[in-house]
Amino acid sequence: MKVIAGVVGNPIAHSLSPAIHNAWIVAAGLDAEYEPFLAPLDDFAGFVADLRDKGVRGVNVTIPFKEEALALASTPSDLARMAGAANVLVFHDGGIRADNTDGKGLLEALATQGFQPGDGPAVILGAGGAARGAAAALVLAGSPQVRIVNRTRERAHALAASLGDKVLDYQHAEDAFADAAVIINATSLGLGGGEGPHAPFECAPGSAVVMDMVYKPLVTDFLDKAAERGHPTVDGLEMLIGQAKPSFEAFFGRPPPAGIDVRAIALEAMR
Ligand code: NAP
Repeated sequence: MKVIAGVVGNPIAHSLSPAIHNAWIVAAGLDAEYEPFLAPLDDFAGFVADLRDKGVRGVNVTIPFKEEALALASTPSDLARMAGAANVLVFHDGGIRADNTDGKGLLEALATQGFQPGDGPAVILGAGGAARGAAAALVLAGSPQVRIVNRTRERAHALAASLGDKVLDYQHAEDAFADAAVIINATSLGLGGGEGPHAPFECAPGSAVVMDMVYKPLVTDFLDKAAERGHPTVDGLEMLIGQAKPSFEAFFGRPPPAGIDVRAIALEAMR
């Protein structure tokens, strides 16, 4: 029987996930389909229950439902619990499994520039859902310290306090950047080609890997300034593809097929 999975969000038309997953489905020769699902803002739970009743195997979850998705889970992963959000729900007879593969995608993306969490302190700009997921993934993977810098300091403080003594909030990026091994933009600044967050790269070691979660445009103001100073950089599309891989495996019971240039496919879908 055809396996149906998809991505639930609001809005959803912009999502690149269907292009990525359907390319893998075709290449793997699966009898399956991955669809975009637009859920009403006021009834995510009812919408998900309906998908489940219709026999959908599982869904990715995107803005603004990731926190609500975690609340629906009967068995959340450690990462989803720590992140306080889930982007994967898999339905089974006994209930709903939830995971957060955004953090896994982040680590996979950073590994393309040789970064490993144990390499040194990580700086995260932002304290929203994406920052929380990133901090949780870095801590679970062995980061010695995660430094949160955010416009609203109280939010950074609350995030740090909830994730244990390895996560600290910093008032000034200048202090946080000193001896950083990785610097990540997890704010929404830079989206659509706007200016990125305040980033004093001159205070960071030249070896620090710099990553932007924003991927529209692919080369953001933040990455442009980092590259100008010679930092190795990673774009947000690598993270998006990185999170899709374990999601695919959760829905279809096998890893995505090798040898498919999903980055090129995603770039084409972004046009
Ligand atoms: P969110 O919960 O709304 O958080 C937004 C963050 O941006 C907050 O820290 C906020 O600071 C900060 N911010 C917004 N406007 C600002 C401004 N004018 N000046 C300074 N800071 C500002 O959003 P999110 O879900 O964490 O997502 C953040 C970004 O990551 C989005 O662009 C999203 O698309 C991207 N993302 C990418 C991936 C991927 O796979 N590449 C995955 C997840 C998310 P305050 O707390 O002070 O408001």
